[in-house]
Amino acid sequence: MQSIKQQLQAVQTLQELENLKVQMSGKKGVLTLAFAQLKNLEGEEKKQKAQELNLLKQEFESIYENKKSELQTLELAKKLEKERIDVSLFTQNKAGKTHYIHLMIEKILDYFSLLNFEVCQGSLIEEDFYNFEALNIPKFHPARDMQDTFYTRDQKVLRTHTSPVQIHTMLNKKPPLRMIAPGAVFRRDYDLTHSPMFHQVEGLMVDEKGLVSFSHLKFILEDFLKSIFGDIQVRFRSSFFPFTEPSAEVDMSCVFCQGEGCRVCSHTGWLEVLGCGMVNDNVFKAVGYENVSGYAFGLGVERFAMLYYAINDLRGFFEVDLRN
Ligand SMILES: [Zn+2]
Repeated sequence: MQSIKQQLQAVQTLQELENLKVQMSGKKGVLTLAFAQLKNLEGEEKKQKAQELNLLKQEFESIYENKKSELQTLELAKKLEKERIDVSLFTQNKAGKTHYIHLMIEKILDYFSLLNFEVCQGSLIEEDFYNFEALNIPKFHPARDMQDTFYTRDQKVLRTHTSPVQIHTMLNKKPPLRMIAPGAVFRRDYDLTHSPMFHQVEGLMVDEKGLVSFSHLKFILEDFLKSIFGDIQVRFRSSFFPFTEPSAEVDMSCVFCQGEGCRVCSHTGWLEVLGCGMVNDNVFKAVGYENVSGYAFGLGVERFAMLYYAINDLRGFFEVDLRN
């Protein structure tokens, strides 16, 4: 009996504990047999032995119950430890990150936000008026060929540039205004350097006639390009856009060869990065602005990101590749 009590104290698992219980009070258990022996005794002796056995039984059961709950707690803790889910396991390997296009847009907006340009956004599907006509691109005008695009069955257009946001903003606000419009645009092109969907950022500043000049535009764009690409040279070349007059393309010295000439810059030392100009009076007429002057500029975000992050294939931006 004593040895069973000692064994009871020493058990390590619930299984061992149950085995001991069978040894003690199972069909052929020590206690069961001892109780069975009582029938051979009589009188005082029987009474005394019965009391003894009952005490033993109580003692055993009390130790047994304590031990059982102790072991159950222990085994549960072990099980929890073994089955614990390491939530960090997946995040370490599969964490997402911000897309380069969006990182680039954030960088651009950071610069212009500091100059109090308001960020404006618009619809991807536009009326012809906002995408073309108000921007001095009449129906059947050859300028539309530069921006061949997709139409819906009811003759709405997937916007070919973010410029319709400028029209909506000017129709809703009185001058002066400073705005910057980032977003996706669409054109019918697909090759190594063109995708049918890409991103633009456009800026517009309008104020009383004479207060905004081409000099302001030049200064801001040069400062902006240097804030993104560092120590570079900037040059303006005269160009044509229907919605600005005069218009210019902006080149910066090649960030890969520092103007020496390489494959990326077609050995010219220069990279074309922006289009800009003074807003054409026909655009102001279309939105009912009078006695104002303003400048506008636009850039392709993919182009900026390719140059900034040294990415050589545009399609990488839109392919699903979890390694990147
Ligand atoms: Zn170069």
